[in-house]
Amino acid sequence: MSEEHTPLTVAQSQLKLACKKLELDSGIHKMLSLPKRSISVSIDIRMDNGTVGVFNGVRVQHWDARGPFKGGIRYSPNVTQDDVIALAMLMTWKCAIADIPFGGAKGGICVDSKKMSKHELERLTRRYVSLIFEYLGPHRDIPAPDMYTDAQTMAWIMDTYSQLKGYSIPESATGKPVEIGGSWGRTEATGRGVIHCVKQAAENNGLKLKNAPIVIQGFGNVGYNAAVAAQEVGAKVIAVSDSTGGIYCQDGLNIPDVLMHKEKTNSVQNIKDCKNITNQELLELQCDVLIPAALENQITCKNVDKIKAKMVAEAANGPTNPDADKVLFEKGICLIPDVLANCGGVTVSYFEWVQNLTREQWPLDKVNRKLEEKMTKAFNDVVGIAEKEESDMRTGALMLGVGRVANAIKTLGLWP
Ligand code: NAD
Repeated sequence: MSEEHTPLTVAQSQLKLACKKLELDSGIHKMLSLPKRSISVSIDIRMDNGTVGVFNGVRVQHWDARGPFKGGIRYSPNVTQDDVIALAMLMTWKCAIADIPFGGAKGGICVDSKKMSKHELERLTRRYVSLIFEYLGPHRDIPAPDMYTDAQTMAWIMDTYSQLKGYSIPESATGKPVEIGGSWGRTEATGRGVIHCVKQAAENNGLKLKNAPIVIQGFGNVGYNAAVAAQEVGAKVIAVSDSTGGIYCQDGLNIPDVLMHKEKTNSVQNIKDCKNITNQELLELQCDVLIPAALENQITCKNVDKIKAKMVAEAANGPTNPDADKVLFEKGICLIPDVLANCGGVTVSYFEWVQNLTREQWPLDKVNRKLEEKMTKAFNDVVGIAEKEESDMRTGALMLGVGRVANAIKTLGLWP
């Protein structure tokens, strides 16, 4: 990220803009610009070779005026405390935009999980939970998956929390495997939610999705499931990528085949009849919809002029920086912002939490129907504000999210 833009400075400038537009008083702005709590831990574990590994971990709880803290846990060698604060802030707005009763949190461990064995990852996860245990809980702070964490990680988190409490508490984490209380449809939810937004934005903009060329950066949980959902609505996914690079096929990729190939070779590249491309080339492909579903800061002033998509749907958190945002808006490219586009994940996490608290398991069609209802409502709420303000959708979304949180804070008052 350029010196002037870090995820935290971007999140803070977005908050400032929303506060200004909403004419919120400076006290609320000051309160929301910092997290309520930020916990740093040093996680010591026994490595498989007998040595001791020491890893930095953090859990940031931004604001909980609308309900318990909620947010993913990311394992990445590049994760910093400031980045996690920014991501926790986004979670606060996201939960408010989706209108679910949670506040925002995020966690991270500075680790290259690809270099760890499954046993090491389990020890790392359990030790991390033991260090932040007293700040977690189904009515306090509920973790979920994010980059390089998955349903198995959530099973370890839920089990460690339960072991320390002495009884089973499935509602202490979401994104778990179905057999231990996970919700049907949670794994697919973020990607599906992205495509619900794309469908509605396409309708509003007169774009036909049948055979529409779609490009997706990232082929993990969100990217893969967005690709599947895009094909379900008749679109043609012409390129995908992962950390090793991308592949392109004008006639459309066979997504299950790409997944099988990635599982076998750890890369999406080198598939017969597809062209290998770089991640940079992928972003600049001619397409109707570009879905960044990997990292922050992918569309910047350096490449924004080369973006040829008619629409950008931010499946990842923070893939477009503010300079590029402006250019896309001026060029009339519709951008569906992260806080709206990827809120399907936390929405189904909320459904999972409700199912766990009521000891129910909803069928997949109910989960998907309720997800679509929530996404449609959130999308229309955001578009309504953006139209009224004559702004881009990001400003509309932030005004909606920050406004709802500020109202909750005002109603609660400041104690003592
Ligand atoms: P994941 O770990 O399942 O997948 C990440 C993907 O990004 C992998 O395919 C990886 O190879 C790829 N990647 C890593 N470095 C890359 C690079 N330099 N260039 C291109 N691709 C690269 O993670 P995920 O859960 O799919 O999360 C992806 C994004 O979506 C993140 O920004 C995350 O915060 C966001 N998100 C995830 C969820 C969720 O429910 N998992 C919800 C909301 C937002």
